[in-house]
Amino acid sequence: MHIVLLSSCLFVGGLAQAANDLPGGGIDPQALNRHVQVLASDAFEGRAPATAGEQRTVDYLIEQFSAAGLEPGGDDGGWVQQVPLVRASTRGTPTAQLHIGAQTRALVNGQDITLQSLQPQAEIVLDNLPLVFVGHGIDAPERGWNDYKQQDLRGKIALVLINDADFHAEQPGAFDGRAVTYYGRWTYKYEEAARRGAAGVLIVHDTAAAAYPWATVRASGTSPLFDIQRPHAEAMAAHTPLRGWITPELAQELFAAAGQDFQALSRQAMQADFQPVALAGVGLSARLQLVQEPVQSRNVVARLRGSSHADEAVVISAHWDSYGIGQADAQGRTIRPGAVDNATGVAAVLELARVFAAGPVPQRSLYFVGFTAEEKGLLGANYFATHPPVALAKLAAVLNIEMFSPDGASADIASWGRGRVSLEADLAEAAKARGRYYSPDPDLEAGFFYRADHFAFARLGVPAITIGAGLDALDGGIEAGRQRRQAYFANCYHQACDGWDASWNPAGLAADTLLVYDLAQRLANSRHWPQWQAESEFAATRQASNDQRSP
Ligand SMILES: [Zn+2]
Repeated sequence: MHIVLLSSCLFVGGLAQAANDLPGGGIDPQALNRHVQVLASDAFEGRAPATAGEQRTVDYLIEQFSAAGLEPGGDDGGWVQQVPLVRASTRGTPTAQLHIGAQTRALVNGQDITLQSLQPQAEIVLDNLPLVFVGHGIDAPERGWNDYKQQDLRGKIALVLINDADFHAEQPGAFDGRAVTYYGRWTYKYEEAARRGAAGVLIVHDTAAAAYPWATVRASGTSPLFDIQRPHAEAMAAHTPLRGWITPELAQELFAAAGQDFQALSRQAMQADFQPVALAGVGLSARLQLVQEPVQSRNVVARLRGSSHADEAVVISAHWDSYGIGQADAQGRTIRPGAVDNATGVAAVLELARVFAAGPVPQRSLYFVGFTAEEKGLLGANYFATHPPVALAKLAAVLNIEMFSPDGASADIASWGRGRVSLEADLAEAAKARGRYYSPDPDLEAGFFYRADHFAFARLGVPAITIGAGLDALDGGIEAGRQRRQAYFANCYHQACDGWDASWNPAGLAADTLLVYDLAQRLANSRHWPQWQAESEFAATRQASNDQRSP
């Protein structure tokens, strides 16, 4: 209790100081609150990509950036970067049959299995293909791990476990214990199976290891998929013909039918010497009719050109998209307004743009970016990262913002996942200078490092973090903060309930935005380059471009 009081006092002092020493009158809590109110209003229809809500959102961002006096930083001297997307849905319900010896039984999409495809084809037909269990489906040379060994997956369907070999293990092993690495994410499993030319990949669901229930798998597994538009051959190579999930009950049945023990093989898959196992006598057929439609969406990009090192840059970003209009909730609401997720982040980017534009121009360029289609798989950020306005080698850092808190200020600030990047220590220092502190992500098992837009840059080696709210509420401490967050995730996250109302206390939005200002200000006026720690999976990629960065 005593400690909480002490940190609160320091914090109030820090905030008072903040108002005086920033350009443009400093970070304005009311401006942040107003931006959220507007972006989360019904007129914006939940800000889904490629809807009227997108147009409103893009217009609003351009208007604000322009009023702040920034330069356009998008395509051809404009404010937007076009992001060509493909929406892939299934026509009718996909069907699948399980073949066990001479017997065949139909599987129910959404109930036993989810069946999807991002391959650009009108129809996918798989006829009685063999199934191979490949453990966690991980090839991680730097961790001395390869689940595939010599297994050839062409013409076969890979069965993989979600998460990685450490999740259910008693001792931490090659994969950092229960904290999930990228190798544990479903996105990785799909990518790796595609690299190996598999005809399909099915993930065996596990509520604990996935961090969500089958209902979540079913909801996304029966919804349209989005991808960046790519050349046909590239899209064919990037995706397996079939992808999906199966229930653990179905997995048990498949393994038993092949005379194998699913539990025993899952335990073997915790060891590096695991060998893939073909499920003899078991086959899967599937048929999916596909519809691909091109869809245009946009990132909104503003720039403040650096005074002395304009070719070097810091990106400050947040995704503008939310879930649009869906089925009515219990109160009959259909719009998912995405107020916390992520109008708060966008509001912070707008306010940072205004304050930076009002002050002395930093040495490095600053880019203020609203990304599209984060909720569809970080697509806007991936597009920006692969079509960047400055060379990635000279992108010093990406400071992405997600889900600041409407419940007032906290003593701490957080970043998502354990990034093993110097930006985390920099953020801690910035917090300390304002009488606050940095909290490492308390929930590494949820894999948040891989679930926000900064990851699109991290995977290409650019030092990047997503900054989010802390839990140590000035009003009630950590326990109260945790309870509010749990209530939000249980009731409002991605739902109609994630709205703005007049009860919001924007003090936390302002305090957290101020720390991003301090951090960005320091990075943009430094000759120092942020670094990955040696054990980071992204360090080697960054090092490959070391000679392009002058000290
Ligand atoms: Zn978000």
